[in-house]
Amino acid sequence: MAGRRGALIVLEGVDRAGKTTQCCKLVEALCDAGQRAQMLRFPERSTEIGKLLSSYLEKKSEIEAHAVHLLFSANRWEQLYFSNHWVLYWQNFSLDWCKQPDVGLPKPDLVLFLQLQLADAAKREGFGCELYENQAFQKQVLQRFYQLMEDPTLNWKIVDASKSFEEVHEEIRTVSEATICTAAQRPLEELWK
Ligand code: ADP
Ligand code: MG
Repeated sequence: MAGRRGALIVLEGVDRAGKTTQCCKLVEALCDAGQRAQMLRFPERSTEIGKLLSSYLEKKSEIEAHAVHLLFSANRWEQLYFSNHWVLYWQNFSLDWCKQPDVGLPKPDLVLFLQLQLADAAKREGFGCELYENQAFQKQVLQRFYQLMEDPTLNWKIVDASKSFEEVHEEIRTVSEATICTAAQRPLEELWK
C-alpha cells in the first residue's frame, strides 16, 4: 500500500444538510476499516487567516466582500497544500471571478452534494446566528451549487440528505470507498486547470 495516494473527497450542501455529521461518520468508518482518513473543515478557524474569517462570520469585524472571498480561498490553499465548503459565491460576483483563486488547488476525486430542501434544513437543529445563516443567502448558495454541478470536469454525486443518518452514511461510505480505490490508480489533478 505504501506510496498509494489518498483520495480527496469533499462533502457539500447547504447549512444543516448534514456535512459535519456525515464527514465525522465517514472518517470513523474509514479509520475502522484501516484507512488513514482525516477530516478537514473549511473554513478552518484556527489559523491566522481562519481567525480573520471567524471574526467576520461572527459579525465582530467587517471585511470587504472580494477580500473575504480571497481569504476563504487562502484558507483552502494553506490547508490543502500545507497539510494534506467551498466557495461562498457572492450574488454579484461572476462565477468565473470566484473560481480563479481556487485554480490549481488539489482537485477533489469526488464531490458529494448533500441535497436537502431549504425548508427541511430549516427544521433541523443548530441554526446559528452567523452571517451567512439565513434562508436568502442559503438560497443563493444553492443556485450557485447547481451552476457548479454543470461542470463536467468535477465528479459530483448527489446524495439525498433527507434520509436517515444511517442511510446517508451507507451511501457516502460506499461511494467513498470506491473512490479511494480508483484514486490510487490515477494521478492527482489540479482544480480547474
Ligand atoms: P452541516 O455541517 O451541513 O451544517 P450538521 O452535520 O451540523 O450539518 O447537521 C445539522 C443538524 O442536522 C444537526 O443537528 C444534525 O444532528 C442534524 N442532522 C444531520 N443529518 C441528519 C439526518 N440525516 N436526519 C435528521 N437530522 C440530521
Ligand atoms: Mg458543518
